[in-house]
Amino acid sequence: MEVAEIEKELQHLKSRIASLQSYLQQKQKECDHVFKNNQLYEQCIKCNKVSTYF
Ligand SMILES: [Zn+2]
Repeated sequence: MEVAEIEKELQHLKSRIASLQSYLQQKQKECDHVFKNNQLYEQCIKCNKVSTYF
């Protein structure tokens, strides 16, 4: 694999990750959270959003 090819692939994956992260954030913002309690944090069973108590 050529270096240029690797860099192109990395760039592609980075922009893919960025778009997925903003998509996930949007989903978590719109979610009607159902939190499952834990001793240290609570996590939504629908969108996996974690919220800590502290
Ligand atoms: Zn949620």
